[in-house]
Parts: sequence; C-alpha cells; structure tokens
Amino acid sequence: MRRISARAHAKINLHLGVGDLREDGYHDLVTVFQSLSLADTVTLDISAEETVASGSIVGALTVNGLDAASVPRDAGNLAWRAVDKLVDHYRVQFGLEEAPRVYINIHKGIPTAGGMAGGSADAAAALVATHALLSETYPALPMGTLLELAAELGSDVPFTLRGGTMLGTGRGEQLTPMLSRGTYHWALIFFREGLSTPAVFQELDRLRAEGITSGPSLHTEDLARTLMTGDPEKLAGTLTNDLQLPAIMLRRDVARTLDVGRQAGALAAMVSGSGPTVAFLCDSQLQARDLVDDLLADGSAYSGATAHGPGKGAHVID
Ligand code: ATP
Repeated sequence: MRRISARAHAKINLHLGVGDLREDGYHDLVTVFQSLSLADTVTLDISAEETVASGSIVGALTVNGLDAASVPRDAGNLAWRAVDKLVDHYRVQFGLEEAPRVYINIHKGIPTAGGMAGGSADAAAALVATHALLSETYPALPMGTLLELAAELGSDVPFTLRGGTMLGTGRGEQLTPMLSRGTYHWALIFFREGLSTPAVFQELDRLRAEGITSGPSLHTEDLARTLMTGDPEKLAGTLTNDLQLPAIMLRRDVARTLDVGRQAGALAAMVSGSGPTVAFLCDSQLQARDLVDDLLADGSAYSGATAHGPGKGAHVID
C-alpha cells in the first residue's frame, strides 16, 4: 500500500455580493475569497494488488476529526467524486485503462455545512492527490484544466484549489488573484447544526422579493485598497456579506453570537459565507484565542478555533 496526502484550506468571504437568481438556478456572485489556516487532509491509500478498469476506483472512504459523523462516506462525498472525475478525464484524454484501487481518508479540521467550503476543500485536495498519482505515469495537466474540472465539482472548488486571496465572479468559480499584505487573525465559532447553502440563498431571494433587504453589494474597490494596507482595523470597516441577514433569519442564535463577540471587543463580526459559522476579525492571535475561550465558556456555541489568513491552495504533503 502506498500513500499520498494532500491538504486544502477553508475559505472566508471578505466580501460576498449576491446578484439575482439566474436561469440555471445559480446566483451571480461578486466575492473576495481568502483562504484560512484551518484545513482538511485527504489521504489516498493506493492498493498494490487491486486494479480497476472501469467505474469508480474508490474502494471505501473513512472520515475522522471535526463533525466527522455528518460527512457522507459514499460516492456523494466530494472527495470521492473528485478522484473519479480526474480518473475519467485521464481515461478519455490519455487512454488510461487500469488504475489502482484507492482508499480515501479525510481528516476534517473544517466544520461541515459551516459556510467555510469544507467539502470543496476536500474535493480540491483529492484532485491534487490523484493528479500527483496519475501524473507519475501519464502527462501532468495544466492548472487551467484542473480548474475546469474543479468548477464542475462545485463553485468553491476552484478557489480552494488555488488558495490565497482572489476575486471570484460568475458562480464564484472565475478567479482573479488579488493583493493582500500581512496576516489577518480570526476567531471562528462553529455551531452544532449546519445551514443548507441553497436554503440561505432562497431566504435572500424571499427577503428581496418582499423588499426587506436591498440589492447586491457589487463594489470591492475599498476592500481591495484596504487589503494592501495590511491593517485589520481598516479591513474591519470593509467586510460585506449579503447572506448574513438571511442566515440570521434562519438561525437567530447566530445573531446572539455576533453580538456577544462584538461586545467582547472583536474588530468586526460577520457570518462566514452562508453560515452559520461566525467569524470575528481580531487584532492578534492572542485576542482571537481569548475570544474563542470567552464565547465557549458562556455556552453560546459548541466549538471554535482560531485561524489566520491568507492560507495556501491545495497541495500534496509528505
Ligand atoms: P460552502 O461554504 O462551499 O457553501 P459549506 O462549508 O457550508 O459549503 P460543506 O462542509 O462543504 O458546506 O458541506 C455541505 C454538504 O456537502 C454537507 O452537508 C455534506 O452532506 C456534503 N458533503 C459532501 N462531501 C463532503 C465532504 N467531503 N465534507 C463535508 N461535507 C461534504
């Protein structure tokens, strides 16, 4: 048995502007992603004896770590789908016939259904690990092809593949690198119950139809300028999330946690992506640690972590 592991990081949306519902069921987004130090690790155990000529090459999938019980262990898991997608691409493009059977393990450090792109990160890590395996025998793929395959797996998969700081448009899959100086520290509070991303988008559509909330936040120029200063106090004034109100409407406990963190001195408090994870921008790692401890001690959430950004894209680890 041989082993290849890859790591991919969570994302936070420093700006999340959501446009109207498109005909294909997606919403147009203008978003600024930044990857965080929080990460999942995907490990492929590659069988020395078993080979597979058609269909899925995945023998089984196991999960441990944070929220492991709520992660699917079958072909619905995004990491499983990513392995098969890349193998199918090599079958069509390079005539791959026999591939070794692989067994996947995912170690979760990213909360599930927490608005931090955990499943997408697993797909990105699985893509780079499988690519490392297949490109030992067949040609390596250019990044552009990997990004296209990533976008077919999910809107956030291309960003988790590339990491860093990026402007995302379209469904969030069209990426343009942005400059970001310095390191930003976050206190993250996770909730036992996740939120369904489609349900939060639907709630936004409902709030807009009823005139309760206004149209999309499309401008990222101030944020772009702020990111170049490396000053977290300035960044605090430019964070935007159009999904924050709908997430709060669906989960009132999120609003309470936002308030507690603000009162405890966070520079800014925001819902991460579609939530319910709440992210507090802090001026140091120490303040972030204290904030997580305070919020956990008062019982308003069940777990939390500190993280800093920007982090890396998906990469193979030794
Ligand atoms: P995003 O921020 O991209 O909207 P999220 O962080 O809110 O996503 P995920 O953790 O990616 O949500 O999980 C969403 C759903 O995807 C889960 O409820 C789960 O059923 C499914 N899923 C499939 N593969 C995975 C995976 N590898 N890890 C976690 N969830 C997965």
